[in-house]
Amino acid sequence: MDRRKGNNRDANGSLAEATASRLRFDDAEAEEVEMEVEESPEAEGEEEEAAAEVIGSDKTSADYYFDSYSHFGTLQEMLKDIVRTKTYQNVITQSSFLIKDKIVLDVGAGTGILSLFCAKAGAKHVYAIECSQMADMAKEIVKSNGYSDVITVIKGKVEEIELPVPKVDVIISEWMGYFLLFENMLNTVLYARDKWLAEDGVVLPDRCSLHLTAIEDAEYKEDKIEFWNNVYGFDMSCIKKQAMMEPLVDTVDANQIVTNCQLLKTMDISKMTPGDASFTVPFKLTAERNDYIHALVAYFNVSFTMCHKLMGFSTGPRSKTTHWKQTVLYLEDVITICEGETLTGSMTVTPNKKNPRDIDIKLKYSLNGHRCQVSRTQFYKMR
Ligand code: SAH
Repeated sequence: MDRRKGNNRDANGSLAEATASRLRFDDAEAEEVEMEVEESPEAEGEEEEAAAEVIGSDKTSADYYFDSYSHFGTLQEMLKDIVRTKTYQNVITQSSFLIKDKIVLDVGAGTGILSLFCAKAGAKHVYAIECSQMADMAKEIVKSNGYSDVITVIKGKVEEIELPVPKVDVIISEWMGYFLLFENMLNTVLYARDKWLAEDGVVLPDRCSLHLTAIEDAEYKEDKIEFWNNVYGFDMSCIKKQAMMEPLVDTVDANQIVTNCQLLKTMDISKMTPGDASFTVPFKLTAERNDYIHALVAYFNVSFTMCHKLMGFSTGPRSKTTHWKQTVLYLEDVITICEGETLTGSMTVTPNKKNPRDIDIKLKYSLNGHRCQVSRTQFYKMR
C-alpha cells in the first residue's frame, strides 16, 4: 500500500512528498505485522532496553507502514492544522450546552485531543476509542493531564469493542479523508451512531458537502503528466495514462480558478446511511473569463449546525490551506473556454469493490463552445 497521495508543490515550488497518511487500520495487514514482530530478535543491550520503556519505541517501519496513525508524525500534522483543530476546539468550548454533563464518544481518538477538549468543557464522561497503537499514548496523555476519571480510552476498533454504557449523548469524530470520503472512516462513525447514539443525541460535525470547480493548470500538468511523453528522448506515455487516473492531492491557487464553484453533494451525518456515500451528481461550471481548463478540482466543507451559531471550515482553494489541500482531477483535453460558456457533466463516486477504503470516480464532461467542442468520460481511482 502506497502511503503517498500524489506529489505536492512545497513553498519553494519544488516537489515534496505528501506525508499525510490518513489510512485506516486494516485487520489483515495488522496480522502480517504481528507475525513479523514475533520473528524479530529480542532487543539486546542496555540502550535498547531503556528505549523499549518508551511506549511505542520498539516499533519498526513495518508497523508504521501498516498502522500509520501510530506514527506521531501523521497526528502531529493534523494537530498543527489550525483550521481543523481550532474549529473543533471552538465548537466544543463555545457550545458547552452540547457537551457539559453529557456522555461523549470520541470515534478515532488518536492522541485524545478531542476527548481532552470535551473533558475540559465539562463532559460527564468521555469514551475515547482508538484502534492504533496511539491508544497507549492517549491513555498516558489523559493520565498526565489529570483527566483519568473523566476520559476512558478504549483500544480497539469501533466495530469490535464493547462500550461500558448503552447510549451516549454526543458522538464527536474527525473522520474526513482526502476528497472527504477517502479512507471510508465515515462508515465507522455511522456504525457508532446507529449502535450507541441516544435518540436526541448529537453528531459532531453533522454536515459535510463536496464541491467542484475548474482550473487552469498548464505548468503543473506539463510537469506531472506530459513529462512522460518524452523522457530523455524515450516515449513513456503508458505511465501517463496511469498518472492521469490518480487524483492529485495538492494546493490550488485561487487565481487558477476559471469557473464558478459548484456544490455537488451534501451529507447529513446524523441521518445518512452508508449507501448515501455512493452517488452520481450533475454539474454545470460556467466560465468567469476566457481561459483554458486543465483540471477539475474537488474540495469539501464541514459544518457543525448544532452550535448556537453555525461553525465549520472549508478546504476550498479560496480558504486557508488545510492538510487535506484540494483534490485535482486532470482532464485528457485542454479545454478552451470562453467567458459565459458552460462545462456540463456528472460525477459518480463509489467505494472500490475490492477495497472499500479506496474510491472510484467517474467523470463525464462536455462543452459545446465557440472555440472548443468536447465530450468525454474519464475514470479515476483514489488509492
Ligand atoms: N481524533 C484525533 C485523530 C483523528 S485521525 C484528532 O482529531 O486529532 C482518525 C483516527 O481514527 C486515527 O487515529 C485512526 O487510527 C482512528 N480510527 C480509524 N478507524 C478506526 C476504527 N474503525 N476504530 C477505531 N479507531 C479508528
